[in-house]
Order: sequence, then C-alpha cells, then structure tokens
Amino acid sequence: PNQNVAQFLVDTAQRYPARHAAIFFDTSLTYEQLLDSAYRFANYLVDGCRFKAGDRMAIMLPNCPQMLISYFGTLLAGGIVVMTNPLYTEDELTHQLNDSEASYLVTLDLLTEKVLRVQPRTSLRKVVFTSLKEYLPFPKNILYPLKMRKEGIRLKKDYGPKTLPFSNMLWQSTPRAVIYEVNAEEDLALLQYTGGTTGTPKGVMLTHRNLISNTLQSVHWSYGAKPGEEVYLAALPCFHVFGLTVLLNKSVYTGGTLLLIPKFEPDVILETIRKYKPTIFPGAPTMYIALIHHPRIRKYDLSSINICISGSAPLPQEVQEQFEALTGGKLIEGYGLTEASPVTHANNIWEKRKNGTIGIPFPDTEAKVVHPETGEAVQIGEIGELVVKGPQIMKGYWKKPMETAKVLRDGWLFTGDLATMDKEGFFSIVDRKKDMIIAGGFNVYPREVEEVLYAHPAVLEAAVIGVPDAYRGETVKAFIVVQADHQADEQELDRWCRRKLAAYKVPRVYEFRDVLPKTMVGKVLKRALVEQKTQQQS
Ligand code: ATP
Repeated sequence: PNQNVAQFLVDTAQRYPARHAAIFFDTSLTYEQLLDSAYRFANYLVDGCRFKAGDRMAIMLPNCPQMLISYFGTLLAGGIVVMTNPLYTEDELTHQLNDSEASYLVTLDLLTEKVLRVQPRTSLRKVVFTSLKEYLPFPKNILYPLKMRKEGIRLKKDYGPKTLPFSNMLWQSTPRAVIYEVNAEEDLALLQYTGGTTGTPKGVMLTHRNLISNTLQSVHWSYGAKPGEEVYLAALPCFHVFGLTVLLNKSVYTGGTLLLIPKFEPDVILETIRKYKPTIFPGAPTMYIALIHHPRIRKYDLSSINICISGSAPLPQEVQEQFEALTGGKLIEGYGLTEASPVTHANNIWEKRKNGTIGIPFPDTEAKVVHPETGEAVQIGEIGELVVKGPQIMKGYWKKPMETAKVLRDGWLFTGDLATMDKEGFFSIVDRKKDMIIAGGFNVYPREVEEVLYAHPAVLEAAVIGVPDAYRGETVKAFIVVQADHQADEQELDRWCRRKLAAYKVPRVYEFRDVLPKTMVGKVLKRALVEQKTQQQS
C-alpha cells in the first residue's frame, strides 16, 4: 500500500493498545504508550525544530525503547532515518554524518561527548541524548513526567546548547496525532549504510514501499506470526536492516512484543528466555553457536522458541541441527543484503525446506543465477552471480549514481554473491564474488573450507581467506578459534581437511586466535583479517 511505514504502529496501537510493544529488562511499553511517545517526538521535531519532510535523523542507539520512539517519531514527521552503529569510531561517524547530511542525531549520554567532538565537522544542528536508565512511557503514568520535571535536571548532565535531552522532547511536546503522507514508492524511510565487511560503507536508499514490502513478505512467507501473540527475542541490533525488518517492523506490524536486548550476551539471552519465554528468535549463526556452547545451556528450558531464522552469513549445518534439538523448534536459513531491505530468500517453514540452502525467493521476488559479465542465465547447478528483482530492492545508493548503475541493471540487483540453483528452484550461496580465492589457478570458495573446519569437534569458529603467495598467486589461510576444553593443532586440522577436501583447497597456513573480529550482527569481519595480515607483513 501507498503508506508511511509508521502506519504499522498507528494501526497496531488501535488494535492492541494495552499489549506490550516492548520489554526492556524489567520495564515495559504498551503500544498505546509507544504511539503516544512517538507522536510527541514527531510534534517536537515539526513544531520546535523546523524539521522538514526528507530531513535526516541519525539514530545511534542500541536496542532500547528510545530507539523505537525515535524511529517511528521521525517517520511520522516525514523524516528519513539514518541508522548509525553506536560502535563507530569518530572517523566512521564523521563520514556517515557528512555523507547523509543528518541534521539531528539521537544517542546515549555515554556517547554524547564523542558525537560533540565530531559535530563541528558535520551539519548536525542538535544532538539529542538519553540514558538507558531513563524510561519514558506516556501517557499512562501521568506522574512520571511531573517527577521528571522535578528530577529531570538532576538526572541529566548538561552538555551545552548544541544538545537536547530526549525526555524534554517528549514532555515539552504534545501527543497530537500526526502522520506525514508519503509517496511510498519514491520517498525514503531509511538510509542504511552497508555493513562494511568488504569496503567503505555506502548509503542504501530504502523507500517506505521497500520496508513495508519486506515486512509483509516475511510475515507471509518465511515463518508465520500469530497476530497479537508472538514474543520476539530482539538480540539482533535494530540499527542493522536485518533486525529492523525481521524484529522491529515485523513485530510492530503483527502486534508482537519485542524483548529488547541492547548487547548480545549469552547469559542475558538465557535469563531473558527463562523469564519472558520468547517464541521467535531471529539471529545470526554466531549467536546460535555461542548459545549451543554455553556451559549451562542444558539448565535452561528453551522450548518456548518455535521459530528461528538465521541470516547474514552461512549457517553451518551442525549448528542448525544442534539448535533445533535444544529448542524443539525450527531454525531456518534465509538470505539477504542491505540493498534488498534485506531479505530475498528463505526456506519456508511450513512447506519443503532444504537444509544447507537459502531456500527459494520470497513472494513477488524474482531471482536467477547469471554469468557475472554477460548477465546471461547459467545452467541449473552451475555457479554464477545471484541477481534479484522485487519490491524490496533499494532505490539506489545515496549520491552515488555510478555505483548504483553497477549493481542495478534493468531493475535487477547484482548481489555480488556467487550462487547455484537446483532443479527444484532452491538457491545455495557459494561465496561472495570478492572472497573467492584463486590458488594456483583453481577457484577456492572459503565457505566450503569453513564448513569442513566447523565440522571438526574442536573448532568453535573458523574463517578462511586468501593470502598472497609467490608460487600460487594466492594461498588458503584459516583462522581458528578452538573450543574451550578442546585441543586441535595444525597437524590435526590438516589431516581432517585432507580427508574431506581436494588438495588445492586445504589451508596451507593456520592462525589460532582467542576471538575473531566481528560486525555487530556477528559476521566475521574478513576485511579486518586481511588488513591485519597486510599490516603484519609490511
Ligand atoms: P558490505 O556490503 O559493505 O561489504 P556486508 O556485505 O556485510 O557489507 P550486508 O548487507 O550486511 O553487508 O550483508 C549482505 C551479505 O551477507 C550478502 O551479500 C551475503 O554475502 C551475506 N549473507 C547473507 N545471508 C547469507 C547466508 N544465508 N549465507 C551466506 N551469506 C549470506
């Protein structure tokens, strides 16, 4: 439909006013309170800040109630949300703020000084700050704003005239109903910067239609969600588009409850499961791996979890099997990328699924495997580049028409991922085009080698990259994290790989680490591994 994404919240608040939209540790926020707060936020922007439709609002928050309020508040006012990673360095933050030309930014008190240091180099007019300790439900608790009026000054630090306390925005404003009427096909809801696993982040322009489509597609396809009944374990960060769509937008659209987790900690996750019994738990493979290996996992009852969807990186099959055995629910694999809001494929939970594949395309989504240069479809089973088309595909990269033209051709998005399709139409990701290693003239797909390494009982995590080699051009290198209480050395892993892989794919170099560098969705940052390697060499 031609509507603002924030209409999800308006409709759900009408249908389920008293249902919990979110639980944050031991406080909660009903849909009525969330909408009321979002209206206040929007009205403050429009009345008090001369914030206009199309202006950019950077949101640099972990999962917390203020993230939901500022996200919907900005959309209600017709603004464009720029999701910003709270862990960004000053340089990364400056780049993103300048590129997006954000005029406002909402963040936590503990990050405010960092933002104020970069502010003079950006077009930021005000920095809105809040604390994870303050919690701002309106309108039920009428005393709360009064109390805050008295205590507010003491609660807040004074960061100077360029800042604005989040709570002031709410209580100095009104909950008058407001919603900016958008042209859903054209107007941007979100500028989402790509993960940066492989290069400089680019701003992906996602329209209201893109976000609405992907929410509806995932509701109707990959897994069901009983309206007004589901409880979502929100461990994926919502400042990443995977969490934004499959948690935030999906839960609000269907009247679910979000258990907001600001930072993935296995102990916190397990306690949250014990207390609030989530039914749906979307995640990244590293999250499921961390839980499977938690020393007290068997002491917890995970049986409330019916549905898990794994995306953002390949899901090793043992992980899928072990996690399903622990919960008794289903763990299905899907696939997507920021440029597609993000999901394009998933295994369907109710129909046929094939483990080890990313399933089949979402409704209204076309997909094919093509020759990367000619764009011609390849034969069934042959490796080529995955291209996709559908209502969730981005409008383009922000201010980068040349980059856009490279990946969007005739409405098809060239994903940069190598894939195959079998005769039943199931797709499998082989690897990223950029990650492929050419060792002595042979193509090696790191993912295949990683699967073999993961299957070794002593391996907790594995990442494979190509490193320069005078003789072969490139050679295969594996980074390994060994599981606690297990041992594995180079000889043992070499014997293991030689039994399962052709000689040219077997890693020649191993490096054992305590941890691997990861992005916020738990994806191994291969770029960091390659860079560290180069630095060591130089
Ligand atoms: P950048 O584009 O800056 O390099 P990024 O690739 O991490 O960052 P995202 O959009 O977050 O950006 O990730 C999308 C990529 O994640 C896909 O292109 C694909 O390579 C990988 N991916 C997602 N789901 C899966 C999956 N199920 N199996 C394998 N790879 C996956």
